[in-house]
Amino acid sequence: MDVATNLEHVRQHIGQACANSNRDPEDITIIGVTKYVTIERAQEAIAAGVTHIGENRLEGFLDKYEYIQDDACWHFIGTLQSRKAKDVIDKADMIHSLDRMSLAKEIDKRATNPTQCLVQVNVSGEASKHGLSPDEVLPFIKKLENYKNIRVAGLMTMAPHIDDEERLRSFFRSLASLRNTVQAEQLPNAPCDYLSMGMSNDYHIAIEEGATHIRVGSSLVGSAETE
Ligand SMILES: *Cc1c(COP(=O)(O)O)cnc(C)c1O
Repeated sequence: MDVATNLEHVRQHIGQACANSNRDPEDITIIGVTKYVTIERAQEAIAAGVTHIGENRLEGFLDKYEYIQDDACWHFIGTLQSRKAKDVIDKADMIHSLDRMSLAKEIDKRATNPTQCLVQVNVSGEASKHGLSPDEVLPFIKKLENYKNIRVAGLMTMAPHIDDEERLRSFFRSLASLRNTVQAEQLPNAPCDYLSMGMSNDYHIAIEEGATHIRVGSSLVGSAETE
């Protein structure tokens, strides 16, 4: 399927989820996750109107960034090794995977400007998932106070691959509630406005629970097999 058609479907679903939850579709940013596909397919997505691109691996990020950097806003959404952080900072408009102090130190040291970071949270508690446990989030963010180049723009989570909609909803709701807790502190370095949550199979639920950024790969640009 061409990206333009897929994008239309995604926008319809966003419209429906927003109608269900009394939200404005303008408040949802679609991040096209291009990790499964070629540079050409990423360019097709941009031509179709996708203005935000996400990659989860450093190589994929740099490969595509080299060709199409000026045409999109760039999101780094995968686990980032501290020693590789320097390759991403100043290229990525947003890093979604801040989950430890060593990475924060590295970003702070290497960045030339304040970097928009999302703190990754493991709301489901699955051992395979990266991210801080919900209890750790506020103390972590408070410790970032003197890190001038880190702006905590929001929180990010990856929900488990399950079909149980009510459980998925409860995870997204937990992240939204944690965001409210952080915002209530009014920390100067942590406006924490954003919630990056929801992927191809669950973004409609994430939007109903407050997502501001959805990360959509397979149902937008396709995976390598379906492209
Ligand atoms: C791959 C990936 C996505 C997109 O997944 P789809 O299910 O294909 O939409 C979103 N977020 C992260 C962190 C990913 O690694």
